[in-house]
Amino acid sequence: MRIVMSCALGAVLAFYISWGQTPQAASGSAPQKKQGGRGGPRGPGPMDSLLVKDWKPDSSLVVPVTNVPKAKFRAIDVHSHTYLRTPEEIANWVRTMDAVGIETTVVLSGATGQQFDSLVELFLKPYPGRFQLYCGIDTTDIDAPDYPQRATAELVRCYRKGARGVGEISDKGSGLSRSQLLPRDKRLHPDDRRLDLFWDKCAELKLPVNLHMADHPSAWRPPDAHQERTPNYQQYNQYGHDVPSYEEVLALRDRALDRHPKTRFILCHLGNQGNDLASAAKLLDKFPGVYMDISARAYEVGRQPRFATKFLTKYKDRVLWGTDLNPSQEMYHAWWRLFETTDEYMPSDTGWRLFGLDLPDSVLEPLYRGNAKRLLNWEKM
Ligand SMILES: [Zn+2]
Repeated sequence: MRIVMSCALGAVLAFYISWGQTPQAASGSAPQKKQGGRGGPRGPGPMDSLLVKDWKPDSSLVVPVTNVPKAKFRAIDVHSHTYLRTPEEIANWVRTMDAVGIETTVVLSGATGQQFDSLVELFLKPYPGRFQLYCGIDTTDIDAPDYPQRATAELVRCYRKGARGVGEISDKGSGLSRSQLLPRDKRLHPDDRRLDLFWDKCAELKLPVNLHMADHPSAWRPPDAHQERTPNYQQYNQYGHDVPSYEEVLALRDRALDRHPKTRFILCHLGNQGNDLASAAKLLDKFPGVYMDISARAYEVGRQPRFATKFLTKYKDRVLWGTDLNPSQEMYHAWWRLFETTDEYMPSDTGWRLFGLDLPDSVLEPLYRGNAKRLLNWEKM
């Protein structure tokens, strides 16, 4: 599998490389001098004081724009949060869902205790079937001997109240407890034995776990002139922080997946490997019971539409659609346009321009709803 995907990637890369070469470079002659290299400065000018964070170029490209008001199949958003919190706002959210063709939104609350219970009243009671609620994990007193039992008991309590999954469980290297940064050897990571009981209970209750491990790899690169993402994302930068490397965080994730094959893990944001879909494919091949959501990674598939379409087609039973974004009609429309059209050069939050994937129905249906219908816990309260 790896070889096939690598070859496909190689072919795509070869295309880009030959496209990007100047005639001189392609024919092997020396590059022209005094070019300033890699698009460097040629002299002073009126844009010299412009900051990267303020650069918002308007495109002059005139290409077809397709409006897709509704998803082609009744969609299930498997990755949302408590963006809206008043009854009026939530009623409005449901109207938006109706308008854009969303059947159910999964709210990854990360909450436990009283906080979780109040969300049941807000989301589940008034809108049965329109929202699913995931609970979180209790991370207080993780060193106490009763911690595994205590955390698991709270999971069971939330399940009885209506939780149908766990998440978003996030570990960017600092561990699961958010209140303070513990010394490295004290942190609670998903592969920790103290969580064995908790993960086993998730499997027993058929509660999927939405797991966010590491982050976009650019977050581990210096926030300097070579940083891939714009300053919009600098709050997520981990460079120089007291955290393990990107690779180490993924390795501890894989140990957790290995230890708990019966627990249904959904790795959000394409496992934070959307920049390297061959590696994401390798992971899915290695762990046949593991899934991914595509939330907050429109920019990853949209910047490599041909390779991403191959990936999403081959793994059409393994990837679920989710947003991880504030609900608005425009936000949902942008996803439909990305998946369902051949439109080009669409704007995105990263500033990178995206290209439509034009996915066939056989891929769209499982992505939008089929996989969620099969994999999530739809048990009634
Ligand atoms: Zn999220």
